[in-house]
Amino acid sequence: MTDLGDFDLAVVGGGVNGAGIARDAAGRGLSVLLVEKDDFAQGTSSRSSKLVHGGLRYLEHYKFRLVREALIEREVLFRAAPHIVRPMRFVLPHSPEQRPAWLIRLGLLLYDHLGGRELLPPSRSLDLRRAPEGSPLRHEFSRGFVYSDCWVDDARLVILNVLDASRLGARTLARTALVGARRDDGLWDLAFRGGGENRARARALINASGPWVETVLGAAGASSTKRVRLVKGSHLITRKFWEGEQAYLLQNVDRRVVFVSPYEDDFALIGTTDVPFAGAPEDAAIDEAEIDDLIGVVGRYFSRAPARSDILYSVSGVRPLFDDGTDDASAVTRDYAFDLDASHGAAPLLTIFGGKITTYRCLAEQTLDRLRRFFPVMKPAWTNGAALPGGAPEGLDSSGFVRALETRFPWLPAPIASDYARRYGTRADELLLGATTLDDLGRCFGGRFYEREARFLASQEFAVTAEDVLERRTKHYLRLTPAERRAFEAWFDGEWRAANRTLFPLGPSRLTGQ
Ligand SMILES: Cc1cc2nc3c(=O)[nH]c(=O)nc-3n(C[C@H](O)[C@H](O)[C@H](O)COP(=O)(O)OP(=O)(O)OC[C@H]3O[C@@H](n4cnc5c(N)ncnc54)[C@H](O)[C@@H]3O)c2cc1C
Repeated sequence: MTDLGDFDLAVVGGGVNGAGIARDAAGRGLSVLLVEKDDFAQGTSSRSSKLVHGGLRYLEHYKFRLVREALIEREVLFRAAPHIVRPMRFVLPHSPEQRPAWLIRLGLLLYDHLGGRELLPPSRSLDLRRAPEGSPLRHEFSRGFVYSDCWVDDARLVILNVLDASRLGARTLARTALVGARRDDGLWDLAFRGGGENRARARALINASGPWVETVLGAAGASSTKRVRLVKGSHLITRKFWEGEQAYLLQNVDRRVVFVSPYEDDFALIGTTDVPFAGAPEDAAIDEAEIDDLIGVVGRYFSRAPARSDILYSVSGVRPLFDDGTDDASAVTRDYAFDLDASHGAAPLLTIFGGKITTYRCLAEQTLDRLRRFFPVMKPAWTNGAALPGGAPEGLDSSGFVRALETRFPWLPAPIASDYARRYGTRADELLLGATTLDDLGRCFGGRFYEREARFLASQEFAVTAEDVLERRTKHYLRLTPAERRAFEAWFDGEWRAANRTLFPLGPSRLTGQ
């Protein structure tokens, strides 16, 4: 039994919300423990559509406050982490069964102006028969619109928040599950499992466990009148099948929308679905109906749309939506709610319901505002305007990072420079420290993946298994053949870890049977 010590705040869940709260709290001077039962970002926060967006369709549900907050946050996040957040243009082809074109134009104007847009270009109408963005679409789509939102590497956003929390003094433990919590003498007495049995005490407990929120409430012997609605969403990954860097927003016959976004240069990410879900979130997987649905909608719009046989991968995640009682899964609010249980001077338990990647920073700020009375000397809010690790010297966007890196390391092949700049921003210099030729990057495991990057991720970004490296901190899995992947696993999970066992002990990676 290891005693991890005493903390002001224990945060359960290393998704975007838990990581964001841990970072914010550590920066305000609290002593913080963050625990994640699997790898950081292994839950919903690596399975999203990766949009930092206001959510155009939420305007239809009159969610003006949520849309405005998210639109403002879009540029806050872009400024904080322009290496992993980038502007994207979305083409919206108009089809007869949609709302009238004038109404969509009006909605886009509102979207342009609701959230203090400063950096992103405004929306406009498109003649799809003439504009290059129209060329991959079927001929019947002659009219459309184009508008701006941002794209983010969601898993890396989580990792950067964990890194910053850790830099600010938080103890951040992956593969450590909260298994029990009880109030004792004004504190939380906490029990964890992962790489052994651990205990800790904390003055306040935050339940940021997303789809697992009710299980964690149970472990703390608590309950809430609020509920989560679990809604599965899936994406398909295919080769990219259009020219240009724009994404497409397609309306399905049932009015749900499907995004088709460029992904990792050569691939396409197609999603999402909204399917009510019951069961263990770890077991979420795409079903045949979702595949038919996504392939069907893309086929309605694109003239050279992918077929089932073109699907390379699918990714499914479970949205932990705050249950507002709405029947239709796609209409349930994307807003968040808090439940603070601190009656009669008991140690507080704050539970988070819902949220979006886009609004995680505001959610973290509001979480700490709610805890202020328990920590009166806590420093004020600070994350609005603060860069995330690797974030920009003023004014650099992701292509600026790429050019700067190419200038400093002219021997680096362009695709690798682009990968490193977009993944690590200014931290790419640490990765490349002392390297003067490609040979200095060590063994190539296939695609653009070199040994030095794997070592950097293990030593600097808490990567413990090959999957942590290939699927969350990078997306190298997309470019490796099965044999190349096996060779990397054999090296990283075997030979290399054996040599570094004391540095990177491996806890049980899947405590809940994923
Ligand atoms: C298909 C899909 C598409 C989406 N697209 C977008 C989008 O484009 N833009 C957007 O803004 N939002 C999007 N979202 C929403 C967004 O992804 C989620 O709201 C967000 O990721 C939730 O983060 P979280 O931290 O609450 O949950 P999670 O990321 O699931 O994190 C919770 C963590 O808690 C851990 N945990 C659970 N139990 C324990 C325990 N006992 N001990 C320790 N750790 C534990 C889990 O392992 C998990 O990692 C999408 C969601 C889905 C499913």
